[in-house]
Amino acid sequence: MNLLSPLEKVKGVGIKTAEQFAAADLTTVDDLINFLPRGYEDFSHITTISGIRPGKATIKARCEKISTRPVRRGLRLTTATLADDTGKLQAIWFNQPYRETQLKSGEEFYFSGEFEFNYNRYQLTNPSAEKISDMPVQTDRILPIYRSIKGLKTTLVRKILAELRPLISMLPETLPSSVIANENLMSRKTAIMTVHFPDDEQIVKKARERLEFEELFQLLLASQLNRIENAKLVGWQIPFNQQVVADFVKQLPFALTGAQRRAAWEIIQDLEKITPMNRLLQGDVGSGKTVVAGLVACQVARAGFQTAIMAPTEILAVQHAEGLARLLQPFGVTVGLLTGSVKGVARQTLYDQIAAGTVNVVVGTHALIQETVKFHKLGFVVIDEQHRFGVAQRQQLLNKSEHMPHKLAMTATPIPRSLALTVYGELDISILNELPSGRKPIATKIWSPNSKAQLYEKIDAELATGRQAYIICSLIEDNPDNDVKSVQAEHVKLQNSVFKHRRIGLLHGKLKPADKDQVMQKFAKGEYDILVSTTVVEVGVDVPNATVIVIENADRFGLSQLHQLRGRVGRSSHQSYCYLVTSTSAKPTQRLREVEKSTDGFYLAEADLKLRGPGEIYGRSQHGALNLQIASLADTKLIARAQKQAKAFVSDNIDMLQYKQLATQVQYYQRLTTLN
Ligand code: ADP
Ligand code: MG
Repeated sequence: MNLLSPLEKVKGVGIKTAEQFAAADLTTVDDLINFLPRGYEDFSHITTISGIRPGKATIKARCEKISTRPVRRGLRLTTATLADDTGKLQAIWFNQPYRETQLKSGEEFYFSGEFEFNYNRYQLTNPSAEKISDMPVQTDRILPIYRSIKGLKTTLVRKILAELRPLISMLPETLPSSVIANENLMSRKTAIMTVHFPDDEQIVKKARERLEFEELFQLLLASQLNRIENAKLVGWQIPFNQQVVADFVKQLPFALTGAQRRAAWEIIQDLEKITPMNRLLQGDVGSGKTVVAGLVACQVARAGFQTAIMAPTEILAVQHAEGLARLLQPFGVTVGLLTGSVKGVARQTLYDQIAAGTVNVVVGTHALIQETVKFHKLGFVVIDEQHRFGVAQRQQLLNKSEHMPHKLAMTATPIPRSLALTVYGELDISILNELPSGRKPIATKIWSPNSKAQLYEKIDAELATGRQAYIICSLIEDNPDNDVKSVQAEHVKLQNSVFKHRRIGLLHGKLKPADKDQVMQKFAKGEYDILVSTTVVEVGVDVPNATVIVIENADRFGLSQLHQLRGRVGRSSHQSYCYLVTSTSAKPTQRLREVEKSTDGFYLAEADLKLRGPGEIYGRSQHGALNLQIASLADTKLIARAQKQAKAFVSDNIDMLQYKQLATQVQYYQRLTTLN
C-alpha cells in the first residue's frame, strides 16, 4: 500500500464505503491522510465513576448487565450497568443493539461520552466503547471530529486513519530542509500524525501551522516562478506616443482622475519594454477602468498593433464596443464587435478584417478565443472582470499572437492585500483608488418588506425628476416553494399596480442575446423608466442616468455581489440610492449592515473575508481549482513568512527536481495562477 492506493485497499473499507468517500472527493490514501479534522473533543482524561462530573468523560469500566428493548417504532434502547472499583453507572445507547455482543465478555473497556443527568439519574449517553489497549481510537484521547461525509460515521474515519498510522509515520518530507530549519517547522509526518492523533490541543496548532505554511509556500513559489518565466519572454515593444495620448485625453468629456492617469502611465511604460506586461488593474465599481483601457488601446493602435478586449457577457461587450468606438473613431481607430450573435457573412467579414489587421480593436465575449479567430498583430490583451474567466480561456486568448502580448486584467472585485500577494503574486498591480470627481456616495438603506408602499413612493418621486431605476430579483420565474421574488412576477405586478404609468423593461439570462441587448439598449437610451432584472446586470453595465437600485431578497446575496449590484448606480453626479429589501422583517444580517454602512469596496472585501473566509470567496467557482485545503489567505503573518522563504528559495537557484512532490504541486499552482 502506498499514498496513491485507492481507499478500498485499506482494511475496513468496502466498495460501498469507498464510494461514499469518493462522493466527498476522497479516493486515495493520500486524500484521506490530508482530510483534516475540523475540531477536537478532549476525552483524554480518565475519571473514576465516583469522580465523574457532568460533561464529556472517559471511564475505564466493565459491563455488568446489558439488555435492549424497543421503546417505540424505530427506536431501540440498550441499557447497561457499568462498574469500576469506585461505583456503578448506567449507560444507554439508542439503536445500537450490537453493544450487547461487544460488551458482554466482562472485560474492561474505555467508555467515552457525554455524562448527563436524565430522568432523575446520572447516565452516560451514547458513549463510544473500546477494549483497553495502548492505542485507543475512539476513546481515551483527544478525539478528532471530521467534516461529515454522507453515510459515513466519524468513528469509521478515525478507524481507517488508525489503520494508516504505519504509513503516516513514514511520510516523506515535502518541504526543503532549509525552509524547515529557517521557520522551525514540524516535519510532515509529525504534522499529519499530530492532527489526526494529537497528544494535546496546543501541539495541533503547531502541526496545522506547518501544513498551512506548506500550502502558502507552494502557492507563493509558483507565482515567483511564473514571474521569472514571464521575465524571460520576448514581447512586442510598443513605443509611447505623447501626442496621441494628449489628443485622446483632450477630447474626453471629462478630466481623468489622478488614479486613472497614474494607472495609464504605468501601463504605457510597461508596453515599451521587451518583456510582456502582466498587470492587474484593480478599481472599485465606477472608478473608470474602461477609459484607461481605451486610452492605451488608442496608442497601441496608432503604433500599428491590435488590441483584444474580452468581456464576460454579451451586454458588456456591446457596451464596451460602443463606448470605445465613440472614443476611438475620431482618431481613425476602428473597433469591431465579436460575439455569439454576429453570424454568417458579417462574422466571416469580421474574421477577415481581424486577420488583415484592418480592425484595430476587437471587443468580444468568449467568441474571441475560438480557433477561427486569427489576429494580424495582437499587441495588447485586456480581460475585463477577469475573475469571471477560467484560466484556460484566458490562456487561449493569449496564444493568438506571434509574440506574447501585453496583458491587462481588470477587476472590480477588490482584493485585500494579503490575497493580492498570493493569488496574484506574479502580477504588477495598478489601483484606481479614486472615484471620478463629483460623485456622491450612494445612500444605502436596509428596507423591511412591510413598508414597500413608502419605498415605491420614493422611487416614483425620483423617476419623476427624469432618473431611472433598477429592481433586482434573484429568480427568473416564480417558484411555488418559496416567497423569493421573481423578475417575471414582479414585472407584471409593478406594471399593473404602482407603476402603471411607467415604462418597465424586463431582463434576465433566459432571453435570447439579441432580446437582452435590445432591452438593455432601450434602458440605456431612457426608453424604460424601470428595469426589472436578475443579476445579469451585475457586471459592469453602465447607465449613468440610473440612480435607484432596489435589491429584493437582499439577504440571499453575497456581500461582494451586493456591492457590485449597487455599483450599477452612482455613476454620475446625481445622488443615487440603494435599497436592500429583506425577505422578512426579522433583524437584518451582519452582511447587509456592512453594505449599508460602507460604500468602500476594499473595506467590504475585508469584511467579506472575515465573515465568510477566503475559501468561499476565492473558492473553486471563481479561481479555477485554487482552493486551499487549510491555509487561510487572510493570515497575513504566515503569508509574509512563506513569501520570504519562497523568494529565498528561488534566489538560491535550488533544483526543484530534488523535491518531487513540491515540484508537482508548484507546477499545478503555476498553471492555475498564471496569465500566460
Ligand atoms: P468601471 O471601473 O466600473 O468599469 P466604467 O469604466 O464603466 O467603470 O466607468 C464608469 C462611468 O464613469 C462611465 O460612465 C465613464 O464614462 C465615467 N467616467 C470614467 N472616468 C471618468 C472621469 N474621470 N470623470 C467622470 N466620469 C468618468
Ligand atoms: Mg467595467
